[in-house]
Amino acid sequence: MPERRVWARRPFNYDGVELDRGQIFELRGRPNDERLIKLGFFAELGSKEGRDQDTFPCSTCGAKFMDELQRRAHGDKWHPVVPRSPQEQERFEDREMDIMERIAPLNVGQEPVVIG
Ligand SMILES: [Zn+2]
Repeated sequence: MPERRVWARRPFNYDGVELDRGQIFELRGRPNDERLIKLGFFAELGSKEGRDQDTFPCSTCGAKFMDELQRRAHGDKWHPVVPRSPQEQERFEDREMDIMERIAPLNVGQEPVVIG
């Protein structure tokens, strides 16, 4: 099966991996893959966008991103210069989800979202 590269439109946990917006990832052939694309969690990468030299890797964990802003947002979230308390981290992630509802809404329509 050929590799199928996608990027995460919003932060979520795919198959045990925490992904952030803009993160480039290779699908693992899970039963829900098509559904995750249809709902808008993932968008497919064309061959050009998928080239390694065009990605922005995190210098701390190596996660690859579509652009510099997305890489910086990921760093702010997971590798803050000043550590956050669990409550502060929760508030940070709540705020992030509010932003995602605006910039990357899911294609849920009337159907309930079931992931797993
Ligand atoms: Zn990182």
